[in-house]
Amino acid sequence: MRSLTETEIRASFVNCSKGEVKRMDMPLDLAERPWEDLDFLGWRDPGAPERAYLVAESDGHLLGLALRSSSGAARGFTARSMCSLCVTTHTGGGVALMTARRTGEAGRQNNTVGQYLCTDLACSLYVRGKKRTAAGRGLDETLSLDAKIARIRHNLMAFVGRVTA
Ligand SMILES: [Zn+2]
Repeated sequence: MRSLTETEIRASFVNCSKGEVKRMDMPLDLAERPWEDLDFLGWRDPGAPERAYLVAESDGHLLGLALRSSSGAARGFTARSMCSLCVTTHTGGGVALMTARRTGEAGRQNNTVGQYLCTDLACSLYVRGKKRTAAGRGLDETLSLDAKIARIRHNLMAFVGRVTA
């Protein structure tokens, strides 16, 4: 995706209040993000560990989602779990259930959408082999890189679609 400024990022959020947008901490390494390798921008709030954010680009429009990662549900260190966006397998808490408040009336009634995501939101880098997991190789996938990128984008848009539907 193209590189984004802090102003663009803050303006992109669709499922939280203006106050929440104002309070959220931007990634500390915004200038050094490998934008050309990203399908979306994702980061954990440096000041609030249970909060995470994701900014996707769809038809030239930016769409930011505020997420909350659920604690609890502690699984054994060796338990494997899979990210539903990038299909990367992790052990030891590398995947977390994250929920996004839905937009509009559904959101006002506290409706949320949950999705298992890489805890560090570095899905784009796992897909491209630029970051590796402690679990080592998961499924022995034969998909090409292009197909994996198409899949992560499809999964991302499906998630965004469920939040904004
Ligand atoms: Zn992932």
